[in-house]
Amino acid sequence: MNSQISLIQQIDAFLPQTQCGLCGHRDGCLPYAKSIVEGEEANKCVPGGQPVADAIAQLLDRTYLKAEESVWPIQADGRPQRMKAIIREDECIGCTKCISACPVDAIIGSGKLMHTVLTDLCTGCELCIPPCPVDCIDLVEDINPLPTEALRLQEQNDLRLRYYAHIQREEKSRLHRKGPVVRAEINTELFAQFTAQLNNIPEIQMIEKPEQPVITLDAKTTIELAKIRTQIKKLEKQLSVRDDANKRLQLNDLQIKLAELQGV
Ligand code: SF4
Ligand code: SF4
Ligand code: SF4
Repeated sequence: MNSQISLIQQIDAFLPQTQCGLCGHRDGCLPYAKSIVEGEEANKCVPGGQPVADAIAQLLDRTYLKAEESVWPIQADGRPQRMKAIIREDECIGCTKCISACPVDAIIGSGKLMHTVLTDLCTGCELCIPPCPVDCIDLVEDINPLPTEALRLQEQNDLRLRYYAHIQREEKSRLHRKGPVVRAEINTELFAQFTAQLNNIPEIQMIEKPEQPVITLDAKTTIELAKIRTQIKKLEKQLSVRDDANKRLQLNDLQIKLAELQGV
């Protein structure tokens, strides 16, 4: 098991950590790394391009395959053009949908306020674009010089940590979320298992929805509850027509009795 985790880790270290899902693994690079170990072809990382496909083929001693094509032209380092998202801030309505869609938390803003992209952190993964209801996010070429290998590794490590922190936060808010989910459901079990084995990565905790206690009632209590509910309904109906202090007191008593019997 540990050797499998270590191999997944080595493959994951080659992947760009864009977490874009273009390899078909919508919840990010780590699930793709795991799937490669299990036999999936290693040429599907679009932003990684040919250099990443070849590096993994070499590591695993597999046949070298042509990398999946990107819609962007190829840069001098053999990878597709790096892109960045820019929000047209005067058109943004502050709906916050792009924030939970961004896997590396590169967007700042809060409800009903203009949002902006921290361009240094943006990987151009495009995940914020479809959820934007007013279509005010553009993708532009990243005109910064290409990073050295050392810088790229540092950037990848940073993106990995940011993604894991993002998962941790999303996992915590998942149970209370009211709005739509704009990212794929994340296989938190895999991430939790992986991060628990490593030293310098924030450990991802699984949060389970607390189970509702199951209340079993005997037949006598069930009948009693039904009677009280009927009396409550009757009193509520009468009180909605004409107020009556005595009936209000009766209603109050019945509601207390109902709550007691239900164990609330
Ligand atoms: S960068 Fe995108 S395409 Fe490449 S492995 Fe990660 S999620 Fe998949
Ligand atoms: S800002 Fe948009 S394009 Fe940039 S990393 Fe976040 S989701 Fe991806
Ligand atoms: S999704 Fe679009 S409109 Fe909503 S906050 Fe983000 S940029 Fe603004």
